[in-house]
Amino acid sequence: LFKVFYITVMKTPSIIGFIGDGQLARLSALAAKNFGFKCVFYGENPNGPCQNLGSFVTGKLDDIVGLQTFAKQVDVITLENEFITADILQRLEKLSKVPIYPTPASFALIENKINEKATFAKAGLPIGDYLVTRNPKIDIEEAIEKWGLPLMLKKSKGAYDGQGNKLLRDLTQLDHILLQWQLEDGEAIIVERFLDFAREVAITVARNQQGEIKIYPVVDTIQKDHICTHVVAPAQNISKDDQLLLQQYATTAMEYLRAVGVFSFEFFILKNGTILFNESAPRPHNSAHYTLDACVTSQFENHIRAICDMKLGDTRMTVPLAVMVNLLGASNRQVDLSVFSHREEDNVYVHPYGKRESRVGRKMGHLTVTGAELEILMNKADFIKSNIRI
Ligand code: ATP
Ligand code: MG
Repeated sequence: LFKVFYITVMKTPSIIGFIGDGQLARLSALAAKNFGFKCVFYGENPNGPCQNLGSFVTGKLDDIVGLQTFAKQVDVITLENEFITADILQRLEKLSKVPIYPTPASFALIENKINEKATFAKAGLPIGDYLVTRNPKIDIEEAIEKWGLPLMLKKSKGAYDGQGNKLLRDLTQLDHILLQWQLEDGEAIIVERFLDFAREVAITVARNQQGEIKIYPVVDTIQKDHICTHVVAPAQNISKDDQLLLQQYATTAMEYLRAVGVFSFEFFILKNGTILFNESAPRPHNSAHYTLDACVTSQFENHIRAICDMKLGDTRMTVPLAVMVNLLGASNRQVDLSVFSHREEDNVYVHPYGKRESRVGRKMGHLTVTGAELEILMNKADFIKSNIRI
């Protein structure tokens, strides 16, 4: 009887477990702590972005024993990346009886780029031409015949910030790319038609356990060398029809997955106006970091609300315009966290990730500037960035 009473009374979890210990876990944990929840992290980097934000269980993503030790210490589990497999998540939920969001069932539908494309094609989202191959040396010829060069080659799992994407400009590069990737026996890759798009946009959505949905504005994302460098919120000069269509695609996708938590969806808009889905993320996303400083409720807070069975917060912007720039490592060295101490203008928000090891291209932090004029904000953001030497 006591147990039944306990379960009905203790509806809201109070200890949140994060699988992963990078900046997305850090920023989500800060939102969780603001509610008064405790955080436990499962990862391999206790001295990284999540240090001092909660306790740590150190282990690898395929270590079910370590994951169970972690699960015993928490009321609800969430993910900050897609590196784990749906299979081990399913086992963890069954063995530990701790709820996991995104659920293992929805995660299974998108755990790699092959499942993800098939899932969203079924859900009715428009997807660019691609093929899946275990014999790239043979099938690449077919792709070249159909779509010409260049082609985009993608690893199906474990890719981030363009790690795992290669542009194939001519056939002679293929051996080198495959050698670099060191694919496992029978590992399939994706060959995509190269899209000469006009722009890239993203949209972030929160959905809670009751099925309530809140959508953030469509944003422009700018990538260099496959890494996001700038986000402009809201997206500039985008038609009402396109915004509605993107919202509809994102909502359809969330409902199809029965997604719980915050998810993001990336799209290409081609020069002829066609919208094509690129990829999704079952978690808070770089393209919505601006929400920390420019929306009523940040994506991180809404993620915590969604997985803890709370009502979602308002997603509207509180300012006309926000520009976010990523602070990427420029060299391989130790940095002092005081490099992020810049505070000279108003409406500028610098978010260091607590990483002391800089590496070229590594996301070390981000900053958001808010205001009303795009050109002014872009210049201001780039200027401040250039003064943060990492
Ligand atoms: P993320 O950091 O978003 O997780 P990722 O490594 O999973 O990235 P994608 O989002 O698939 O990779 O690709 C990264 C970027 O590469 C895209 O934002 C886009 O700029 C470019 N890109 C990807 N696919 C194509 C394509 N088929 N044609 C042209 N450019 C592409
Ligand atoms: Mg991407």
